[in-house]
Amino acid sequence: MKGVPVRIEVGPRDLENGVVTVARRDDLENKTTINVDDLATAIPALLAEIQKNMLEKARAFRDAHIVITQDMNELTNAVNGGCFAKAMWCGDRACEDKVKELTSASTRVMPFDQTPVGTKCVCCGKNLLKEDGSTDGKVIYFAKAY
Ligand SMILES: [Zn+2]
Repeated sequence: MKGVPVRIEVGPRDLENGVVTVARRDDLENKTTINVDDLATAIPALLAEIQKNMLEKARAFRDAHIVITQDMNELTNAVNGGCFAKAMWCGDRACEDKVKELTSASTRVMPFDQTPVGTKCVCCGKNLLKEDGSTDGKVIYFAKAY
């Protein structure tokens, strides 16, 4: 029964009363009874709500596991703790390779939002701050693959 989002229990007493018992995968504690006549509308609504809840849970989990890191020590601690290390990167392949060699974490994604999270490359420490206040590097996520 793993992976089943909604389990509908139909017992003799339920049928007598024109209802079924519904258990949600994301909330196994609370079972509800639904009138048989309402099933065609109640189940799709329930599935949409479960999808929304699971997505919110996954996003909250992801967001709680992003750590902004400024140097290799912080990056190492973050990825060893199972987190995503969000960092500035100079763009040099040598730094990307060195991070992988030292931590076994690799680059995961370069987000569209390039708002700087620091001024130096997390690996080589090169200053990425330009005179006009912008930065030369890239915001990037490092993490271990599992
Ligand atoms: Zn670098």
